[in-house]
Amino acid sequence: MKIGFIGLGIMGRPMALNLLRGGHRVTVWARRAVSMQPLLDAGAGGATSPADAAAGADLVISMVADAPDVEQVMLGEQGVAHGAARGLVAVDMSTIRPSAAREIAVRLAAGGVDFLDAPVSGGEVGAIAGSLSIMVGGSAAAFAVARPAFACMGKNIVHVGDSGAGQVAKAANQIVTGVGVLTVAEALNFAARSGVDPAKVREALLGGFAYSKILENHGQRMLDRNFKPGFKSWMHQKDMNIVMQSAHELGLCLPVSAATAQMYNAMVGSGLGEEDSIAILKLLERLSTGGDA
Ligand code: NAP
Repeated sequence: MKIGFIGLGIMGRPMALNLLRGGHRVTVWARRAVSMQPLLDAGAGGATSPADAAAGADLVISMVADAPDVEQVMLGEQGVAHGAARGLVAVDMSTIRPSAAREIAVRLAAGGVDFLDAPVSGGEVGAIAGSLSIMVGGSAAAFAVARPAFACMGKNIVHVGDSGAGQVAKAANQIVTGVGVLTVAEALNFAARSGVDPAKVREALLGGFAYSKILENHGQRMLDRNFKPGFKSWMHQKDMNIVMQSAHELGLCLPVSAATAQMYNAMVGSGLGEEDSIAILKLLERLSTGGDA
């Protein structure tokens, strides 16, 4: 299949590489030439704009940051809509607000483009391994077109429902992971401040009901104090903001998410935005000691 791929950051780069390895003809675009080079070296074609990446493609995929970025690459002056033939399937795999995904789908449909929201979970490790969980919203026909591409990037591929349903699943995912990272950090900080080895506490908890992938993976990185992203804290702030905006739209009470969202706000405010979201441990340490942990 001929695939245009837009956005080559921590996630987009390995995902595009896996499409190439899967035998697809991939044309990439990123706003900085330096981001495109590793893909060009691996055999991808280079596009001059998102519209150029979409021209002649069977499928175009974006992996950027937030809703305004998806709007820009899909519908902006040089956007996908301007290079698309009628019937093109466009897929956004970034994490954005469900209502924004639905609006983009409607605007693209006016030009004959069938849009899927298909955000992912599994992090950089899953993107490199091609083992992402992919949550898809949109038409069954577009899902059938995109499925072979999804199979190169992910393992657990679920067509959740109509337009926006993939982003609703992802927001639910971020409730669980956002709260989960915070609670693991709280537990390890609690152990350390109690004078008990947090590594031993994690080891003990892994065998019981407190087990989670987050305790296992993120917990280990907290013990290693490896704060290199991964998943940047400002991205997790963005995602908790998506959860809170959606709750506002729905008139919905999400008390634990609300408290967690405040913690991610504080991370960005205290200069931890570019570090991995596990640096929430540092924030808790600062709040507990008043010092510069
Ligand atoms: P990243 O490393 O910051 O990459 C985002 C890329 O998008 C950057 O290369 C950026 O270009 C490009 N971009 C952003 N806005 C753009 C725009 N308006 N026009 C053109 N290019 C634009 O972030 P990431 O970690 O790959 O995350 C990408 C998406 O995946 C986000 O929505 C995130 O929430 C989601 N996600 C991330 C993870 C994870 O663990 N990292 C896991 C699941 C989902 P520049 O390099 O020029 O800034």
